[in-house]
Amino acid sequence: MRGSLPPATLPGGPARYAFFLDIDGTLIRFAVSPGRAYVDPWLLEILRVLHDAAGGAVALVSGRTVESIDRLFSPLRFAAAGQHGAERRTAAGAIQRHAPQAARVEAVRRCVMAWADGVDGLLVEDKGICVAVHYRQAPQREFEVRGALERCRERAGGAFAVQPGKMVFELRPAATDKGTAIRDFMAESPFSGRVPLFLGDDATDEFGFAAVNALGGHALKVGEGDTMAGWRVPDVGAARAWLASILGRVSPDAEWSGGEPKG
Ligand SMILES: [Mg+2]
Repeated sequence: MRGSLPPATLPGGPARYAFFLDIDGTLIRFAVSPGRAYVDPWLLEILRVLHDAAGGAVALVSGRTVESIDRLFSPLRFAAAGQHGAERRTAAGAIQRHAPQAARVEAVRRCVMAWADGVDGLLVEDKGICVAVHYRQAPQREFEVRGALERCRERAGGAFAVQPGKMVFELRPAATDKGTAIRDFMAESPFSGRVPLFLGDDATDEFGFAAVNALGGHALKVGEGDTMAGWRVPDVGAARAWLASILGRVSPDAEWSGGEPKG
């Protein structure tokens, strides 16, 4: 376990930084299913303020599809990486997709669907490139789900990786992750030349933490668990309070009075 409390203000102000933000478990609490998640007006407002303060250098980096991200944050549209980096929309609006061959994507999808059909308590989420199996309603099935996805991964000949998450296992393209997405953003305007900062809560976010660490930035882990992030806050409420704090605002949940400024 690493990670000290982040400072209440950012040295040099938000305009020096590029902000990369995971969504579920970081900015919003987990819902029963991803489709039931909800972004409250306060969060929309704080992200709008952050976007302005950071000169547009704000990207949402999620396991969701970019389409699902847009629906969640409507009417706002941010630069976004979806499906753990397999798809990306730049700040200029260009779409990039890094999908394995269509036949492999289809084979993986069929394999997962065929296995999960008829297994109680599972929610299969077909995202187009990635396919996720949520077992939040059947936590006793954790090892069963992982085993099935490993078998489906083997059939795809190394094009996919099994990505664990909170109450979910997912097959994502092996060539992309949240770290590759952040590196791609950092090569482009308005992100390039800034200090990258990434907030995330889950195993998939460790790729992003590694990327920002390597780029001289800062990683902030939300919640418990081993991490390579240098900073940590205890929960979603604290992550939101910290974001408010660096913008000179106060969150309705809590006021952030965390650690001392550094670097
Ligand atoms: Mg998350």
